[in-house]
Amino acid sequence: MSGQAQKKTPKKPTQAQLIERLGLVADMDFIVHLPLRYEDQTQIYEIASLAIGEYAQIEATVIQQTVIQRPRKQLQVLVRDHTGELLVRLLHFYPSQIQLFAEGATLRLRGEVRRGFHTALEMVHPKVSQAGMPLAQTLTPIYPTTDGLSQPALRKVILAALERTDLHDTLSVETRDQYGLIDFASAVTQLHYPAVEHSQALLNQTHPAWNRIKFDELLAQQLSLAAARARRALLKAPSIAASTRLIAQLTAALSFTLTGAQQRVIAEIAHDLQRTQPMNRLLQGDVGSGKTIVAAFAAVQAIEHGFQVALMAPTELLAEQHQQKLSAWLSPLGIQVDWLSGSLTPAQRRKANERVALGQSHLVVGTQALIQESVQFHQLGLVILDEQHRFGVEQRLELSRKGTLSMAHLGSDWLPHQLNMSATPIPRTLAMTFYSDLDVSVIDELPPGRTPIQTKLLAADRRFEMMERIRLAVQEGQQVYWVCPLVEESETLQLQTAVDTYEQMAHELAPLRVGLLHGRMSATEKNHVMDLFRSAELDVLVATTVIEVGVDVPNATIMVIEHAERYGLAQLHQLRGRVGRGHKASFCILMYQNPLSAIARERLRAMYETTDGFEIARRDLAIRGPGEFLGVRQSGQMLLRFANLEQDSGLILQAKECAAHLYQHHPKQAAAHVQRWLGAKEEFLRG
Ligand code: ADP
Ligand code: MG
Repeated sequence: MSGQAQKKTPKKPTQAQLIERLGLVADMDFIVHLPLRYEDQTQIYEIASLAIGEYAQIEATVIQQTVIQRPRKQLQVLVRDHTGELLVRLLHFYPSQIQLFAEGATLRLRGEVRRGFHTALEMVHPKVSQAGMPLAQTLTPIYPTTDGLSQPALRKVILAALERTDLHDTLSVETRDQYGLIDFASAVTQLHYPAVEHSQALLNQTHPAWNRIKFDELLAQQLSLAAARARRALLKAPSIAASTRLIAQLTAALSFTLTGAQQRVIAEIAHDLQRTQPMNRLLQGDVGSGKTIVAAFAAVQAIEHGFQVALMAPTELLAEQHQQKLSAWLSPLGIQVDWLSGSLTPAQRRKANERVALGQSHLVVGTQALIQESVQFHQLGLVILDEQHRFGVEQRLELSRKGTLSMAHLGSDWLPHQLNMSATPIPRTLAMTFYSDLDVSVIDELPPGRTPIQTKLLAADRRFEMMERIRLAVQEGQQVYWVCPLVEESETLQLQTAVDTYEQMAHELAPLRVGLLHGRMSATEKNHVMDLFRSAELDVLVATTVIEVGVDVPNATIMVIEHAERYGLAQLHQLRGRVGRGHKASFCILMYQNPLSAIARERLRAMYETTDGFEIARRDLAIRGPGEFLGVRQSGQMLLRFANLEQDSGLILQAKECAAHLYQHHPKQAAAHVQRWLGAKEEFLRG
């Protein structure tokens, strides 16, 4: 190890590195690195005219300076102009700042005006400059930046890029006229050199310059989706005829009747499989809506015609459950279901790989172990991803590639059909913009006989009430999940919390039988605990979010989530979906710790008010923005930086229409536009 590497403090990054960290590489990256907000440094405000919460620049003279020792050491400076007084507070300071704020000094100060404790108004850590300097001529743009890169330094490189770059328009005059857009050069120029008189429109993004930028961004996205669709249309897949035999047998053997929604999506998928283009379908259905059986029907159609099917699930626990369920349904039909996971011994794995390669396994269920290099299929015609949003783009592609390899004798442009399943509903607006190269099927109906889950909110100091409730439920033969607090910052702490909660519960609830399930347990241990819970040898299962996905124990009727305020909405909804799977009334108790943040309050309210996954997703979108709904492929590059899906839905429609037209009639213009906005990133999207 070199001496350098042992040093504790890492080397300070250079300005170039910081700039790159912001994703700024090509000139165009700089040009569309647009301000987050604007500050008005074009005028000096009078103290008497300041309003709380406003960002302002004043010039004032120090009349008194005090170093306060309690409660914490800080520097307080009282300043005055000819209209009034204001208190400046520095919560930490250097000796040089004591000099700077010497009594009698006149300074220019810039910052947010706050309500003061001692005086009516104060500024905390304002920016300080010399009084009497010339004022800015335009508003001052404030850019998204990173630690260590100052606004002036960043502004300088951005404006330099703006100077040297050719800002020709990628849209023709006709297109601009049609959609009422200003030209690109003037749009970006106005955003980087914001005129004072436009300050309101610039701030609330109603200025025509913002409109142009949002339109351009949406257009690039729509064009790139159109290209993805067109590329897809050139790909081939084996046409798999409808089942004439096995599906009838499966239907006859089922212990329940399919819901109308299930029948509809099964038909949609069956139809897709018959096409000579690869299916790319997203099956959305709320937790408990019965997606697994739909997957089984699709699998059976493929298997009846000699194709193999692979089903990949994100966790061992979930894969194991699928394996059990699907074997129970399909083995009686003579279908060989195999299992591939990290927990197999090398010998078992070799055996399984062999069966898969020879085509003796018809359906292979597993975790990411399915995409390991050693796995080769004989003829993989259909891949199914459960909880698809949990997989990265590479993992999704890799499974599909296995299919391509297994059909190499047909050509390299052959793909297996692909069915993606997800219980995290994607709001319609989002699906429309991000997934337009994907077909979507929705199961919008729950199997009959489910009693709706009742959700209750309970402050943490009423925990003891919960204990009584649990005892009663267990006496009646029901089972309980207890989700322990989320500790995001550390896996070790999370483990510790889980173990502590378990011990406390086992003690408090004795003689009830309490089990523990957490992410650090081996797959075998997890499965063992799940088996005990499933066979009702445990009454209460203390768990981390490992139970979030797919776990299905109909006899469990109570779900308690401790510190529910720490969980996101989608997660809470998933967790709640673990109960309400049988005929008995189920409850979800969200225990929270006061005080609640505004966002946490919103989330808990949403959970209380609705059990509809789509409504929850809509609210989640409103609370959090779109970022987290999207899988790896969409995050980053495809994510909209400027346009807002809710507010700009009108623009989205225009961009879609314009994209369709350009793509067909002006491919060169379309290519130039995509190049400008996505540049090298477009390559990435081809994946
Ligand atoms: P999810 O959509 O969350 O993956 P599952 O496929 O696990 O849901 O189904 C939840 C439960 O409902 C399972 O026990 C499943 O066997 C059962 N189920 C599925 N479809 C029906 C139906 N039509 N009628 C009754 N029960 C059903
Ligand atoms: Mg499922």
